[in-house]
Amino acid sequence: MPTSSRRPAGGARPADGPPPRLTAGARVPIEAVEDGDIRIVKVGPMGPYGNNAYIVRDLSARAGFLVDMPLEERPLLEAIEAEGGVQTIVATHWHADHWMSYDAVRSATRAPVLVGDREVHVPEARIDGRLRDGDEVRAGAIRAIALHTPGHTPGSISLRVGGAVITGDTLFRGGPGKTFAAGDLETLLASIDARLLPLPDATVVMPGHGATTTIGRARAGRQEYRRHPRPPGFHGDVEWRR
Ligand SMILES: [Zn+2]
Repeated sequence: MPTSSRRPAGGARPADGPPPRLTAGARVPIEAVEDGDIRIVKVGPMGPYGNNAYIVRDLSARAGFLVDMPLEERPLLEAIEAEGGVQTIVATHWHADHWMSYDAVRSATRAPVLVGDREVHVPEARIDGRLRDGDEVRAGAIRAIALHTPGHTPGSISLRVGGAVITGDTLFRGGPGKTFAAGDLETLLASIDARLLPLPDATVVMPGHGATTTIGRARAGRQEYRRHPRPPGFHGDVEWRR
């Protein structure tokens, strides 16, 4: 199911993020954050919904993992090739815009595909394992922690890695992810409050669509939203400020 496409596309520099590094000749922006031996490469926006993929890599070992498999195949495969060492693929949730490059990525890396253990509508033949809340995704010395953050989908996960958190469609710059049924927004906000906002202010939020932000900014936005919340049962797109 296509998800939030309202987030700004285009490679504008996030005011609170690191400067993007543009690879010569690439149509898709590549933005890299390094924290000690941890390198996180944001590849995106890509495809009709402006999706981001992330490659997380241990700089002192040829080991890493990929988060999400959106269109477009070519720049994504080029980034995987350039970084090297992708051993595992994690899907933050099972919406098509996050796995449209499944076949290409899978055949290029031969890596197992993991998804949250509560996720629904996942063809079991397409996945190799499930991540429970608190499970680690390992690559070299990197230990990324899976956080069950339901609401956008029942089994959505976020991944805490170094000073960053990869949030899929749970938390964007400027608001929560899109919700599709009554009650889901409340579930999503509870996930954000309980699992993401307790992280340090400086934590870089790396979402499945749009620009990066920080937990500090997300917390301020969430506080603003409390002053004019949507009515109970509302679902759809929400901005913190309106
Ligand atoms: Zn989605």
